[in-house]
Amino acid sequence: MIKENFEEIKNEVGDNVNVIAVTKYHSVEETLAAYEAGVRHFGENRIEGFIEKRQALPADAEVHFIGTMQSRKVKDVIEDLYYLHSLERESVAKKIEQAAQHVVNCFIQVNVSDEESKHGLKPEDVEGFLETLKDYDYVKVIGLMTMAPHTEDIEVIEQTFSGLSNLRDTLMQKYPEVKELSMGMSNDYPIAVKNGASYIRIGSKIMGS
Ligand SMILES: *Cc1c(COP(=O)(O)O)cnc(C)c1O
Repeated sequence: MIKENFEEIKNEVGDNVNVIAVTKYHSVEETLAAYEAGVRHFGENRIEGFIEKRQALPADAEVHFIGTMQSRKVKDVIEDLYYLHSLERESVAKKIEQAAQHVVNCFIQVNVSDEESKHGLKPEDVEGFLETLKDYDYVKVIGLMTMAPHTEDIEVIEQTFSGLSNLRDTLMQKYPEVKELSMGMSNDYPIAVKNGASYIRIGSKIMGS
């Protein structure tokens, strides 16, 4: 099933969208089955899961860290950390800068829909954060990430994703390297892709639930 699920989504979204299979609720065996099915981008939101899946997967697979990163945990994963989707604190950036021996591609997480419980910077704070990161050698911000609220209301989801896309367009005038958009999960990825997502993070719709 993983193969059919993955191929269906790949065909639907086209070659310009990177499909990340989120394996956080799935075993190493299932993750390796996804690799066999052609998946090369994987997503994990916990340190233990990241380390476990990284060790099991072949070198040409990329494991993206998509969960909240704590500064004291950076050192545990830094050697294998090439994509961080949840940068929102300078303390984490500082730890990366201290520990890294390669560039870490980062997305700044943005709380577009302004839910109190959500992680991420307010849209109006992103430019200032980018400014503080401009002299970092190992923290390279390549784009923005957001999560839409859990709702059936397509209008609200649409506003979240178009909001992130518009913010990206504005920031790119000053920071042209901030061009990628990490947005869209199993329930809302078609809306994300319509609004310019370049990385979608899909769990259940690929891996099963
Ligand atoms: C779990 C998770 C996903 C995938 O969720 P699904 O609804 O299973 O597709 C995507 N992004 C983040 C940050 C996640 O934690």
